[in-house]
Amino acid sequence: MNAINAITIALSKGRIFEETLPLLAAAGIVPSENPEQSRKLIIGTNRPDVRVVIVRASDVPTYVQYGAADLGIAGKDVLLEHGGTGLYQPLDLKIAKCRLCVAAPVGFDYAAAVRRGARLRIATKYIQTAREHFAAKGVHVDLIKLYGSMELAPLAGLADAIVDLVSSGGTLKANNLTEVEEIMPISSRLVVNQASLKMKRDLLQPVIDSFAGAVQ
Ligand code: ATP
Ligand code: MG
Repeated sequence: MNAINAITIALSKGRIFEETLPLLAAAGIVPSENPEQSRKLIIGTNRPDVRVVIVRASDVPTYVQYGAADLGIAGKDVLLEHGGTGLYQPLDLKIAKCRLCVAAPVGFDYAAAVRRGARLRIATKYIQTAREHFAAKGVHVDLIKLYGSMELAPLAGLADAIVDLVSSGGTLKANNLTEVEEIMPISSRLVVNQASLKMKRDLLQPVIDSFAGAVQ
C-alpha cells in the first residue's frame, strides 16, 4: 500500500477521466493537469495528500487490488473480466454508460444460427463475460481473444460475430454490423482497496460520500 496519510486514485484517460472530474470536484479535488495534454502518468491535485495515476482502463482494478492505488474508477465490463478480487465496489457512478452486445454483419441471421445449434465464432476482448453469456443461453461458441478493433473481425472473416461495447451504434453502422443481442448495460464503478478502507477510512470515507452525493 502507498503512504498511510495520502490517497492515490487510479483513472484512465478519455471519457472516464472527463466524466470523473465533476465527481472529484464534489469531493474538493481538482487535478492539476489534463492527461490528454500532459504525458505525465502521476498527476498532482489541489490537495497535497491526493494524487491521480493514469493507467490503461483494464489495469485500474489491478492497481487497486494490490493497493498501488486506494481508489479507482472502472467500467463494469472491465471489472467482470478482472473478477473483482480484493476490491470493494461501493458505488455505481453512472458514468461512461454504454451496453455490452453481440453484433453481427447486417444480413447474418444470428437468431436462426442459434436455433439451428450452429457453432459460432465470436471475437471479443471480453472472453469471461462472453463465455458466461453464451453458456447460460446454451449457444455453442468458439471465442477468439482480441485486444481492439473488434468490428473488423467479421468483415475480415475472422469471426461470425463480436461481443463489444456499444453506445450510439455509429461504429457498428459504419462497418455494416448490427446489434443482435444485448448482454448487459454497462457503467463505471468506484472501486476501493479493502485494506486501504480499513487503514485510511478517515481520508477515504469523505471522498466516497462526496462521490455518492454527486451521482445523479
Ligand atoms: P484502450 O483504448 O486503452 O484499449 P479501452 O478501449 O478499454 O482501453 P476506453 O475506450 O477509454 O478504453 O473505455 C474505457 C471504459 O469506458 C470501458 O471499459 C467502458 O466501461 C467505457 N466505454 C467504452 N466504450 C464506451 C462507449 N462507446 N460509450 C460509453 N462508455 C464506453
Ligand atoms: Mg478504446
